[in-house]
Amino acid sequence: MDPEEFRRAGYAVVDWIADYWTTLGQRPVTSQDPPGAVAAALPAGPTERGEPVEAVLADLDSVIAPRLTHWQHPGFFGYFPANTSGPSVLGDLVSSGLGVQGMLWATGPACTELETVMLDWLAGLLDLPERFRSTGRGGGVIQDSASSATLVATLAALHRASKGRWRVDGIDRRYRAYTSTQGHSSIEKAARIAGLGADGVRAVEVDPRTQAMRPEALRTAIEADRAAGVTPAIVVATIGTTSTTAVDPLPEIGAICAEYGVWLHVDAAYAGAAAVCPELRWSHAGLEHADSYCFDPHKWLLTGFDCDAFWVADRGELIEALTVMPEFLRNAATESGAVLDYRDWQVPLGRRFRALKLWFVLRWYGVEGLRAHIRTGVALADRFAERIEADDRFELAAAHPFSLVCFRLRAGDEPNAELLRRVNDTGRVHLTHTRVEGRYTLRLAVGSPLTTEKQVDEAWDLLSAAAEGLLAG
Ligand code: PLP
Repeated sequence: MDPEEFRRAGYAVVDWIADYWTTLGQRPVTSQDPPGAVAAALPAGPTERGEPVEAVLADLDSVIAPRLTHWQHPGFFGYFPANTSGPSVLGDLVSSGLGVQGMLWATGPACTELETVMLDWLAGLLDLPERFRSTGRGGGVIQDSASSATLVATLAALHRASKGRWRVDGIDRRYRAYTSTQGHSSIEKAARIAGLGADGVRAVEVDPRTQAMRPEALRTAIEADRAAGVTPAIVVATIGTTSTTAVDPLPEIGAICAEYGVWLHVDAAYAGAAAVCPELRWSHAGLEHADSYCFDPHKWLLTGFDCDAFWVADRGELIEALTVMPEFLRNAATESGAVLDYRDWQVPLGRRFRALKLWFVLRWYGVEGLRAHIRTGVALADRFAERIEADDRFELAAAHPFSLVCFRLRAGDEPNAELLRRVNDTGRVHLTHTRVEGRYTLRLAVGSPLTTEKQVDEAWDLLSAAAEGLLAG
């Protein structure tokens, strides 16, 4: 494909995406086909001779698009949002076109420096503590996901807890990670990959009313472990837990971590984006105690997957934990000590130019536009929650400080599961579920920039009608 052929095909692809977004609301949110339908519709192997892009676009229309879960659909309320936007797609397109591999400053000076500046911009936008800025000892980096951020934080924490021996001896004694019972599953996975073993993570109990970690329970767990010869390595606190968006009390947790010299990582994968709004920054109180922090612009900040923003207070510790220097990567810039090499801040060596999509997003929306996006999500969630509260058949299952509402029928688990099935079967909206204090609970998470009052009201109307049928039956 020469540049002129690329130009022509590229316009066709951009047209296809714009048409997809324009017509999204008319599609069912999820695929109606059984497993295997896509594989059965594809040929057994590639064609002998090349095909034009139009042939691929035709198959996108007939084979792929009808069998997607449409995450950008205005009626998609499942899990947490994973939204993209025009500027994000365009930034990613430039990144693909440049094809730069930014493992070292030397292999992509602008790739590295734009990333450093974007993470400093983001730190300012969220009003994160000064200690995370690259202008001091800290700094930020883009990871593929919050899961990777937790893994990298766990490795740095082990490095610290072992006073550097972990690099040499591996896991030479028993270490432990702590999170609440509501901490994300990626924390357990990180501990497993890091070699902490089956009981590597202690699930600290939460306050049943708030679903937030109980600091006294954390202290008890740390003290019991120390008494048993286990070394506490890392506490992962959460701002916006996956089930209910509970916020762990960082000031108290931070004080305990400081007392026992334990690394504090704060996982704000979804709710971190809320801090672009000053009125939601209460959720980040106490963050100055954290050694590391992450949030996913790919969830609620209009930046397409993958883009996790991860900061450390002391980049030296992280780099020392992860750096390996083979001969073939030696270069004058690294040896000068004047540059950052992001390969030392992550698990893989190679990395693409993800800062570009952040740059496009931040410049297109500006601070005002990003705040408006978050405020719209919160207002729509409030609107939905008001419907729930006003109807005696339903109850809220948790507080809704951000854009997630957890609710259920005042009935058992089975009627609630059936309610979810019936509403999702309409294809108009898509919600998911969790359990709160053991009880089946529906979740409605707002995040798509295409979602308006219309879809939120439609979700409520569908739920209300399905509840009527269910309770009557
Ligand atoms: N942490 C929390 C609190 C989450 O809610 C999620 C996903 O929803 C994750 C971590 C994992 O995110 P990622 O897919 O970026 O690894």
